[in-house]
Amino acid sequence: MLQKPRIQALKSFTKNHICTDILRLDEIHPVISGNKWYKLRYYLEDALMHGAREIASFGGAYSNHLVALALASKEAGLSAIGFIRGEAGPIASPTLSAAKEYGMQLVYLTREQYQDKAAIKKAYETKGRYFVSEGGYGNLGVQGAAKIMEEIDPSPYTHIVCSVGSGTMAAGLLTTLAAHQQLIGISSQKNNPTLKNAVLQFCSPEIHGQFELEENFHFGGFAKHPPTLLQYMRELWIRESLPTDIVYTSKLCFGVEQMIATNRFKTGNKILIIHSGGLQGNHSLKKGLLPF
Ligand SMILES: *Cc1c(COP(=O)(O)O)cnc(C)c1O
Repeated sequence: MLQKPRIQALKSFTKNHICTDILRLDEIHPVISGNKWYKLRYYLEDALMHGAREIASFGGAYSNHLVALALASKEAGLSAIGFIRGEAGPIASPTLSAAKEYGMQLVYLTREQYQDKAAIKKAYETKGRYFVSEGGYGNLGVQGAAKIMEEIDPSPYTHIVCSVGSGTMAAGLLTTLAAHQQLIGISSQKNNPTLKNAVLQFCSPEIHGQFELEENFHFGGFAKHPPTLLQYMRELWIRESLPTDIVYTSKLCFGVEQMIATNRFKTGNKILIIHSGGLQGNHSLKKGLLPF
């Protein structure tokens, strides 16, 4: 069902003999792409092991997590229910339409109701329903994300760079690092003082020093995509044939280029960027704004 991800060399991301590759998790599946599949797999296994018949989770109108979960549940023979932040608009987002097409039942909640996950779980708990936390955050998500590194031979790299939303993927990657490697997380959020700890709490203290969180590449905040970001995405496509999404991976690549330009890396460093997918979220843009 899933393609093995390829590694693409980014020829324009070089300076002082620094080389940069990108792991194209966006290509493993047209829908269950990127890191979401890795984060979900152990939750699905656990649900089946517990005899669940239905998976429940949470997300916004453009949630990569929900649409991946909708299809992955269907393929696992489980039904799915998604709790959506915000009331239903006149037309559903392409993300939610797809989730519905894969059989997910959608329940719209007000933003206020959505904040209180414990209350939602309590109100909607029924026999055979298995809840996955928002974005797959949690131990099983971290263990699943660690499997990303098993797709490749990571030993030549000195730095792994990934984007950080909930921090689940970063935590998983961090647990796999060798002693000579450093993980840099690029946050897609503005001012979230709890984010670094959200990553580190899953990892033993001895490896905390191998993680750095970069918080300067959010372009105004989560999901903000000013014209300068879209322009960068178009340039990157022309330069490297690399499609990126407006929430995570464009800011990730921009951040890496900035860090290379400002001599954050040393001669001979070898960088691996994790392309965590998310391209379906670009459907929220007006048609024609991006060439891919
Ligand atoms: C969800 C997502 C992330 C963030 O992953 P976390 O594990 O929540 O930090 C990064 N990139 C893409 C494309 C995503 O969809």
